[in-house]
Amino acid sequence: MGFEDFLGNRPVVELLQSMMARDRLPHALLLCGPAGVGKYTLAQMLAKALHCLEKADDFCGHCRSCRAIALADDRRAAVEQAEEERERLTKRPREIPLVIQSNPDVVLLAPNGPLRLFQIEQARYLKEALTFVPAGGRKKIFLLPDADRMDSAAANSLLKSLEEPPPHAMLVLTTTREAALLPTIRSRCVPLWLGPLARRQVVEFLEGAGVGRDENERVLRAAISQGCPGRALRLDLEHYLSVRDSLLTMVRAGLEARNFAELFAESQKLAREKEGLENLLAVLYSLLQDILHIEARANGEPLRNADRPKTLFEVARSLGVEKLAEAAATLGSMEKNLRRNVPTQISLEAFAISLAPVRRAAKSGLGGESPVVQA
Ligand SMILES: [Zn+2]
Repeated sequence: MGFEDFLGNRPVVELLQSMMARDRLPHALLLCGPAGVGKYTLAQMLAKALHCLEKADDFCGHCRSCRAIALADDRRAAVEQAEEERERLTKRPREIPLVIQSNPDVVLLAPNGPLRLFQIEQARYLKEALTFVPAGGRKKIFLLPDADRMDSAAANSLLKSLEEPPPHAMLVLTTTREAALLPTIRSRCVPLWLGPLARRQVVEFLEGAGVGRDENERVLRAAISQGCPGRALRLDLEHYLSVRDSLLTMVRAGLEARNFAELFAESQKLAREKEGLENLLAVLYSLLQDILHIEARANGEPLRNADRPKTLFEVARSLGVEKLAEAAATLGSMEKNLRRNVPTQISLEAFAISLAPVRRAAKSGLGGESPVVQA
């Protein structure tokens, strides 16, 4: 076991290993890349390599230290467990920083709570913990996954620590949204980018992990997850397909400017299931991406929603390039609604209705009348 087990992104892994071998690891590292590409896995591997009792500049996976750190390999489970423990201990869990210490010198500070935020309490804890020398005489490593979930109070309080962390400490931040980080945080870290893997590689990974009923399911999982093995692994495929089909029905009903009853029925269904707007937007983006792919007659990677080519071709034909750009812009403003507490159902319905052909006659058989519904 070791760095060789990391899937894809060889140049990044090799760079990290060579930094370790030359004792040139930065004090603050920022791993950037899409969700599920392996940023946290790589950070965990780095933590193990820094503390492995058997190997130098790599890790064995079975020594006492490697096994202890591996307890936090499944970050979601580790955070969930720590949150439960915290709730048992106090009536006011928000006041206690969520700290997961799998090894005395490896500390995980992950976003938590109902809003999944990195709290100011965690930032204060980190500042204090940085002053302690590592117990094992090696580097003390602090993992801050999804660092963009830090609010500005927490981020500002960390600036000094990021600029001049003590020589015995190392911070590893990860993010899917590099641009969402405060520039002052970004500029204090050494960034490394992880890119998506080829679909075939993800399919093989899923096969090795025993995920998926058959090859078709694994191919679909890899396609939807856009080459991110972690996402392909965790994907609740049935749920994704159900949400995706609801949204596709809404988009078609909006485009055809008729059958709004069907549109409202689907949006009510999604609202009843309390589907979060963030997730709905991600699915809508995947559909738009496929439509753009068809419009651009792009070669290379096939569709993400590879099980619905016929419907997507039909939607692409009625939408057209101009409307597609408008739809993308509307999704952008829906993303802003995320922070404004606009009800999800209203956002979705307004989006679907905005697709109706108001100013142009329909090219195809998909009715061309102006919608009478006020958006
Ligand atoms: Zn080890």
